[in-house]
Amino acid sequence: MATPETKLFINGKFVPSISGKTFPVFNPTTEEKIIDVYEADAADVDAAVTAAENAFPAWKSLSAHDRINKCLKFAELIERDQFEIAKLDAEDIGMPVSVNHLFIQRAIRDIKHTSGLAHDVHGETSLNTPGQIHITLRQPYGVCAAILAWNAPVVIFTAKVIPCIVAGNTIIVKSSEKAPLSSLKLGALAAEAGFPPGVINVLSGFGHTVGAALSSHMKIRKLTFTGSTRAGKLIQEAAAKSNLKSVALEMGGKNPLIVFPDCDIEEAAGSAAASLKFNSGQICVSNSRIYAHKDIFQKFLKVFSEKFVEPKIGSPLEPTTFFGPQADKLQFDQILKYIEQAKSSGANLVIGGSRATDKGYYIQPTVFAKVPASADILHEEIFGPVAVIQEFETEEEVIAECNKTEYGLHAGLYTRDISRACRVATALETGVVTVNSGGSVGAYDMPFGGWKQSGNGRELGKLGLEEFYEIKTVIITL
Ligand code: NAD
Repeated sequence: MATPETKLFINGKFVPSISGKTFPVFNPTTEEKIIDVYEADAADVDAAVTAAENAFPAWKSLSAHDRINKCLKFAELIERDQFEIAKLDAEDIGMPVSVNHLFIQRAIRDIKHTSGLAHDVHGETSLNTPGQIHITLRQPYGVCAAILAWNAPVVIFTAKVIPCIVAGNTIIVKSSEKAPLSSLKLGALAAEAGFPPGVINVLSGFGHTVGAALSSHMKIRKLTFTGSTRAGKLIQEAAAKSNLKSVALEMGGKNPLIVFPDCDIEEAAGSAAASLKFNSGQICVSNSRIYAHKDIFQKFLKVFSEKFVEPKIGSPLEPTTFFGPQADKLQFDQILKYIEQAKSSGANLVIGGSRATDKGYYIQPTVFAKVPASADILHEEIFGPVAVIQEFETEEEVIAECNKTEYGLHAGLYTRDISRACRVATALETGVVTVNSGGSVGAYDMPFGGWKQSGNGRELGKLGLEEFYEIKTVIITL
């Protein structure tokens, strides 16, 4: 593999950070350092903002068609280099190339879909007032920023950058400090795709420095974030204290899956297990708490546990590996801490419960059943291969349990009863509900986002694109 890019991508060029500082990136499979990456801080943010500001007038003045063509070229280049990109994420966060292949295919499809939608962004007209014509214009914000989580770096990058720039904005992306390499590669592909210098800029660095500088920058008018609720609140606060920039937040979840007794249990267990083993449980929509009806509880628990341990643990670089390590030591330690807490809270450990290998941050697929109502593992996002399976009796009781959380990202249910499916889907307080599928099933042409403290704003689809336009009402008196 070619040596990964380590400099910052500002104004169409790779440059060292102004301070010259770097930070180390570790491989979670070997626990060894792979490379040092240049670390941006507030001065580099200013340089990137200036580049983005200078690029904005010409970029917004292009026809939508020209902007769309560049995005489509970008998709073509990602497809061409997908194996190289997947290897970068395998190196720095241990994501199996087999898993990333699916993410990258999704990113390519999202780019094509969003770019196509951009042809059809229009305003409204009204003739309701005699002697006047009213119209609305949708116009770009100007300089925008994106702060990324590490767990699906390519798809999170494209879900934010493409709608932003196709709408005529320019952007500064801050990758996660855990996963800087693939975002820098995407910077290189942006240059090759012909985006003018300054339209897309990519900074590597930490949240409390670069992230904070972006959140409080007076010239950034829109910021889109994916990550934890903790960081999302700090970003929203910094935005409010600076220039009240518009903020869109995609945050965590503690996603319930309800399994009613009339469903296909094999299918429900397989789908729930798939959502939790995919990317080693590091997925915001994984079905991390499952409520199985008392009549099928024991059977579900058995089938789920069998399916959950199926995937082969191995090197993320092997195409046959579907279960890799956790992204870094911090994640690994945090998950093991939750597991230990659950054990001492009296939760019934069914399988797993410890690290899986002597070397590398691998954790055994772990299942707890019938955990006490107060256990942290039932309420907090673990972000690892840990399932909690609870028993329920009535529909009302399980809906109340599912909604008893500040999270509201995703929920699922399995039943053959269409009336119950519609009733429960309507009652669940989440931004996405899947019926007869789990968290691994998504809809590329529908908006995605959370209720409550899981988020605000939407990504993907028409609403995801519309996030990146300001609206202006023009009143013409005849
Ligand atoms: P994180 O909040 O630790 O970090 C996310 C990003 O925010 C990183 O780039 C980080 O450097 C930055 N950041 C941290 N503190 C900051 C601050 N004070 N100011 C500005 N930026 C700051 O989250 P993470 O560990 O990278 O990602 C995991 C979380 O992301 C989970 O909660 C997961 O559910 C969530 N997630 C949500 C979605 C979604 O679409 N809803 C998708 C993927 C991940």
